[in-house]
Amino acid sequence: MQARFSGWRESQAPTPARSFGLYETPTPTRITMKTIIEPFKIKVVEPIRMTNREERLGYLHAANYNVFKLRGDDVLLDLLTDSGTAAMSSEQWAGVMRGDEAYAGSPSFYRFEAAVKAIFGFEHVIPTHQGRAAERILFSTVCTPEHVVPNNTHFDTTRANIEATGARAVDLPVPEGLVPSSPGPFKGNMDVGKLEALISEVGAAAIPLCMLTVTNNTGGGQPVSMANVRAVSGVCRSHGIPLYIDACRFAENAYFIKLREEGYVGRSVREIVKELFSYADGCTMSAKKDGLANIGGFVATNDEALARQERDLLILTEGFPTYGGLAGRDLEAIAIGLEEVLHEDYLQYRLASVRYLGEHIARGGVPIVQPPGGHAIYIDAAAFLPHIPAQEFPGQSVVAELYVEGGIRGVEIGSVMFGRQDPETGEEHPAAMELVRLAMPRRVYTQSHVDFMVEAIVQVYERRERIGGFRLTYQAPTLRHFTAEFEPLYGIGS
Ligand SMILES: *Cc1c(COP(=O)(O)O)cnc(C)c1O
Repeated sequence: MQARFSGWRESQAPTPARSFGLYETPTPTRITMKTIIEPFKIKVVEPIRMTNREERLGYLHAANYNVFKLRGDDVLLDLLTDSGTAAMSSEQWAGVMRGDEAYAGSPSFYRFEAAVKAIFGFEHVIPTHQGRAAERILFSTVCTPEHVVPNNTHFDTTRANIEATGARAVDLPVPEGLVPSSPGPFKGNMDVGKLEALISEVGAAAIPLCMLTVTNNTGGGQPVSMANVRAVSGVCRSHGIPLYIDACRFAENAYFIKLREEGYVGRSVREIVKELFSYADGCTMSAKKDGLANIGGFVATNDEALARQERDLLILTEGFPTYGGLAGRDLEAIAIGLEEVLHEDYLQYRLASVRYLGEHIARGGVPIVQPPGGHAIYIDAAAFLPHIPAQEFPGQSVVAELYVEGGIRGVEIGSVMFGRQDPETGEEHPAAMELVRLAMPRRVYTQSHVDFMVEAIVQVYERRERIGGFRLTYQAPTLRHFTAEFEPLYGIGS
């Protein structure tokens, strides 16, 4: 029992993630100890509900085996997403009380705007109800059907919002970004050669903007290096193409740069963030991630004419430009969250807790995307269940079995999410990788919760040979993973 509460200590045995020795952590804490602790104490608790295996089999069946359709209180440990699931701090709750609900010109907006400008350095800040609203406003203002938008890897809503304008979304990850088992410090990088090739192929005029997603969520939560941001920015600027950062996990990415990139160990995360965004012309942000808030987002830009058009569209669909679909109290929570997320004690704990989950399941044999990402661990479902073909959705099987085993909810990021069905032949075109994402909510779970996750995941791994695939029985034409329905081909919970 003693060991159970030993803290997020670095693992003793070398594991694949650490064997290349890049990631020795310069400790930012003033107290020098090996054990990394949660840098907070708990003021409010929310009970979670235990269920038995029988009940979970019933709930999953009733949800057509799609965990998006489960009720939250039927889930014990919810790793569906790190989006909007953070625990807010006492300061943020105090900010909620301070929130001013003036329709126009609320002081809460000005506090929010000042926080965003101070951290990111852009001139125009437009609040939105969440990240995808920022994306829709940006892309529907700049994209036409002739356009192409490159990105290291588009997140699903980013791709969908680009495609909704008729434009084409192109992923240009570095080759190692597509090899789950190959370790590397910056597997989230964009392939700069491929960006140059794309520009010569379609012409700079066909590229209204280039995106760079930090960290690369769909590509395994892997960070992008400062050198890569600089290089991509250089190519874009030489062709007159604006660069926008998908900034959802900007602080986690900056802390990875501090730990892994030469020349940044002595720089503060705030300075790193400032430099990173100085290479860009604007950003989209979901404050539900590194905003440490439960809702919100923004789009920011240095382009005044564009900001004007975006505000007009905002008024039509989101709200007046000083609230953008949010309440004044939300703007306060975001302003404070954006500051708190830069605290290096927090970032050290954040990355250590995610790494702890990854290292411990990897030690149990579970194949994961190496090295562990900033906000999530990605299980390589194709390697976990090599006997299940992509057309039978091995990631879906891992997700279903984790729920049955331990009430844990993860999410498939593979052929259910990114595969396509040929509308004529009905044939399934699989995704590049079959992953299952276990996303860690911020400041929510403790180490014993993670020890429980490790135990359940390794137990599923040990009975992997008895696990079968799934068949789709319903799918929507876009973003099908949210509402899809499935049938197990050979039963579950073996
Ligand atoms: C979550 C996310 C978005 C979309 O933000 P929402 O707040 O969920 O609408 C966009 N890009 C990335 C990389 C994300 O992780």
